[in-house]
Amino acid sequence: MSEIHKFLFEGLPVRGVLVRLTDAWREILSRRANNTTHGAYPVPLQNLLGEMTAAAVLMQSNIKFDGALVLQIFGDGPVKLAVVEVQPDFGLRATATLNGTLDEAASLSQMVNVDNVGRCAITLDPQNRQPGQQPYQGVVPLFGDNHEKLEKFSDVLQHYMLQSEQLDTTLVLAADDQVAAGLLIQRLPMQGVGNLAGSAPRAHEDDIGLNEDYKRIALLAATLKREELLTLDASTILHRLFWDESVVRFDPLQGEQGPHFACTCSRERVSRMLLSLGAQEAESILQERPDIEVGCDFCGQQYRFDAVDAALIFRQPDQLPPATGAVH
Ligand SMILES: [Zn+2]
Repeated sequence: MSEIHKFLFEGLPVRGVLVRLTDAWREILSRRANNTTHGAYPVPLQNLLGEMTAAAVLMQSNIKFDGALVLQIFGDGPVKLAVVEVQPDFGLRATATLNGTLDEAASLSQMVNVDNVGRCAITLDPQNRQPGQQPYQGVVPLFGDNHEKLEKFSDVLQHYMLQSEQLDTTLVLAADDQVAAGLLIQRLPMQGVGNLAGSAPRAHEDDIGLNEDYKRIALLAATLKREELLTLDASTILHRLFWDESVVRFDPLQGEQGPHFACTCSRERVSRMLLSLGAQEAESILQERPDIEVGCDFCGQQYRFDAVDAALIFRQPDQLPPATGAVH
């Protein structure tokens, strides 16, 4: 079962989240493997997308925001796009676009940052966005302070967190064909009641990024190995890392409350896409074949429109069937 475990360190300005995606992650992989257009992901891309998926769940669970969190890499290498979307209820989906083939041992930069112009974007899209309202988006490069290519996706995100939220964050991410998992440790701002279980804030050292407690816990977190993150359960990991700390855990989010695969595609959304394609383009496709077929890259659902369907879309754009969510 896929799980989210939140915890904090009693009396310290530090909190954490541990995410383990099992069934939700395998669902993403098996749908891709069953997609005859694309086929299964090569291992390095599978692992990158898994790390991104775990990271997106960590970030969604770490913010109070009523909307979708979308994590994207716009690559300049063979991987053109990798995208993960996590809804507030932890319904999630992910996909990636690969042109050509990948070496079995391809690094992050060989996949998405060949010319050092790859980008990572984090978008927060409010649930009930008003017309004209823009979603919030932050974009970071895939290189470090000295323009050196970053080879760990967790380093890219740590950079982002420091820049956007001004919060020290330590991330450990790992994925294989069974599990996508991540650990996030974050220093809390000292103002207000940052640490709910905490007593009075200790000192103002925190304001200048010199918090010793955070540093100690972050160092412990960084010793977590890929194998441990992929194979051990949450209690074992937290005990192994923080046995000497006073960890306060919350009830895990799992099952219906936890991360689960969910696609938000629908026939109506695809209809709108056809509408923006234009009647001419649709007609030229229909001259060559009986149906226009549109497949969802996230879930593999195939939508078919014959000449009558297409005519209805273009004649009555305001009378599309109402949104019904995913149809599968
Ligand atoms: Zn879909």
